[in-house]
Amino acid sequence: MAAAVARQFGGARRRLIEELEAKGIGDIAVLKAFDDVPRHHFVPSGVAHRAYEDAPLPIGHGQTISQPSVHARFLSLLRLSGRERVLEIGTGSGFQAALLTRLASAVFSIERIPALAEAARESLRACGIDQVIQRVGDGTMGWPEMAPFDAILVGAASPEIPVPLTEQLALGGQLLVPVGDRSGQALVRVIRTPDGLREERLDPMRFVPLIGAHGFEA
Ligand code: SAM
Repeated sequence: MAAAVARQFGGARRRLIEELEAKGIGDIAVLKAFDDVPRHHFVPSGVAHRAYEDAPLPIGHGQTISQPSVHARFLSLLRLSGRERVLEIGTGSGFQAALLTRLASAVFSIERIPALAEAARESLRACGIDQVIQRVGDGTMGWPEMAPFDAILVGAASPEIPVPLTEQLALGGQLLVPVGDRSGQALVRVIRTPDGLREERLDPMRFVPLIGAHGFEA
């Protein structure tokens, strides 16, 4: 059975990796993470046949697993060395958290919807990944007890840069957050430097809303 599933998805996974490369993702460690983590384990069975399309897919509760090229873009921007402590806001399916375990040394992830957090926990377990430290709650507040973080990734759209997250960045640490209104955002990178916070606006993005004290209202 496992061999049949591997055959069914193996070719599709290789084609997705080639597509990511063609779209400008050149970071070998990021591409290898996509090769290591079976995305079809992180989507509902009804859409598993589309798991290796470069597309967002519904995961229930009005939420989505992000498009692979968007995950790849976030992860490439961080240029992780493998030694970092990383915080993800918006666990969703757990797929990006799984990719992060291949690229960083400690992965923390917060999800506000308990049922999604539980499903992500099960998907991670099914893939034999036990390094993700998960919590249910409002990720706009960060995780002060576990700070500082070398990288913080927000996988949902925020009306502003959540201040608690910038406060939890280590020196040299980076925050990636899509900032804008509910219909469209720009990916913003904030880096903590010895002289303070440096902000850069990067690509246009379209994410589901970040709901919380420093995000949108529910
Ligand atoms: N990267 C995820 C993956 O690999 O599946 C997809 C993230 S999905 C686009 C955005 C997630 O952010 C949703 O699961 C949503 O419930 C969650 N979210 C929204 N506001 C949040 C908040 N304040 N704290 C934590 N999670 C939040």
